[in-house]
Amino acid sequence: MIEQPYVYRHRELVEPDWRRLPGWSGITAEEWASAQWQRAHCVKNIRQLRQLIGDGLDERFYADLERDQAERATMSMLVPPQMVNTMVPHLSPADPGFTEAFYSDPVRRYMIPVFSDRRSDWPSHPEASRDSLHEAEMWAVEGLTHRYPTKVLAELLPTCPQYCGHCTRMDLVGNPTPLIDKHKFAMARDDRLGAMLDYLRRSPGVRDVVVSGGDVANLPWPRLESFVTDLLAIDNVRDIRLATKALIGLPQYWLTDEVRAGMERLAALARQRDVSIAIHTHANSAQSVTPIVARAAKAMLETGIRDVRNQGVLLRGTNDRTEQLLDLCFALLDDAKIMPYYFYMCDMIPNAEHWRLSLAETQRLQHDIMGYLPGFATPRFICDVPYVGKRWVHQVARYDQELGISYWTKNYRTGVELDDAFALEREYEYYDPIHLLPEAGQEYWRSRITTPVAVGAAG
Ligand code: SF4
Repeated sequence: MIEQPYVYRHRELVEPDWRRLPGWSGITAEEWASAQWQRAHCVKNIRQLRQLIGDGLDERFYADLERDQAERATMSMLVPPQMVNTMVPHLSPADPGFTEAFYSDPVRRYMIPVFSDRRSDWPSHPEASRDSLHEAEMWAVEGLTHRYPTKVLAELLPTCPQYCGHCTRMDLVGNPTPLIDKHKFAMARDDRLGAMLDYLRRSPGVRDVVVSGGDVANLPWPRLESFVTDLLAIDNVRDIRLATKALIGLPQYWLTDEVRAGMERLAALARQRDVSIAIHTHANSAQSVTPIVARAAKAMLETGIRDVRNQGVLLRGTNDRTEQLLDLCFALLDDAKIMPYYFYMCDMIPNAEHWRLSLAETQRLQHDIMGYLPGFATPRFICDVPYVGKRWVHQVARYDQELGISYWTKNYRTGVELDDAFALEREYEYYDPIHLLPEAGQEYWRSRITTPVAVGAAG
């Protein structure tokens, strides 16, 4: 009998032993379980990484990282111990081959990017930009993006407990890097949040609010609870989604007594008001799904919320193979009860070409995962097209694979086109990475721009 392209096996989740890392050799289980300890011991710079891992990692890695931070990084470094510990889970720094394993690790590839990861020919696509989804243009009030007719995105704060190298909100989120100054909210936080609620009260057509950031795990719990409680008092709001990668990167936070008790109150109020609250999280690799992540996700479900769903990002070197994606989906579904929901194509931000897949590659991955997962848990692969919004990758209207340009249509006006009579007749473009194009396509792009771009602060 010929073996199937993917063979399912239930795999027990494993918490890697953090004591294999020299800097944490004396850390107790109680300390590890503490959200406060996790936040206080995040790796924020090369010195701290060196103190943690020491000589097990070659000097060339530290130099590679230093150069990336100086010349390419769009996000500053912030990696909670929980996430560091999922990198190279089976080796200790003293083991032979640790440096190579660290270089090729799927989580390291997007949480601690280094210069040699990036493309030297086309580090950025010429059409890449900060705020590539034009969210700020669509702010109804500062931080409240009204792109789709019935739903809004509320960016409550510009920070996270962890910073991902590929962050699509690199324009706003995190600390500045040598290349990228961050946009700063002009209004005071409470005024902004109040203005968002006022807007929603006078927008009866909006029924769905994504409460995001940044990451809601960085808002003091009482402030988040009071904002969601106020949302629940608005008649037209029927769906609330709380966006937090911390469920994966800092699950200890979602397991604290304060947060569990607060989520129980919100879930009870939501039930009373017949509103759905869900948590949306962001895992990109099966090794990120550990027993403590599963405990946190199940603790949230036990509060009575509707669901916990995953929105991953497709990243070359992290999850660009069918097997990696299915392993992740089964890890989420089997033991953590997290619903695989979306995989986004990596957005067209600066210096991201080494991560991005082409539309054709993504369509192939969508094809290849079909039929293994239950239909309700089969994730959709999504291209977030500027000025359009999320489209399933097979919804493309036209696709020029030589130039790497796909053309998309839409069926609603975004917040910036309410008076545009032609918005629904136009086609909107999206671009494949140039280094994947046939020579004629690459030549087309070279002829349009003489110096390949590595976008910096002015990008
Ligand atoms: S958690 Fe989300 S918002 Fe925060 S850095 Fe990562 S991708 Fe960006």
